[in-house]
Amino acid sequence: MVVTCCQLTEMITDRSEGKLSSEQEEGCARHLAWCDRCRTYLRQMELTIDALRGIPGEPLHDEVRAALFAQFQRRKTTAE
Ligand SMILES: [Zn+2]
Repeated sequence: MVVTCCQLTEMITDRSEGKLSSEQEEGCARHLAWCDRCRTYLRQMELTIDALRGIPGEPLHDEVRAALFAQFQRRKTTAE
């Protein structure tokens, strides 16, 4: 399936939870292969998710976490 930037940002959360179908997963992977913007978005999201899961490393301060989520929300809104 062809995945747009907008769809990809919608699917990222499900992807991190392993909820995507193999077709969706393949569409995401193909999109990420050429789209720098979504790769950056995914990287930031993964870093945030890792931090939220409490994986050892530098803890994120609450305000940093809030700022990241605000950024995701803005990107999501402008992508629509
Ligand atoms: Zn994209």
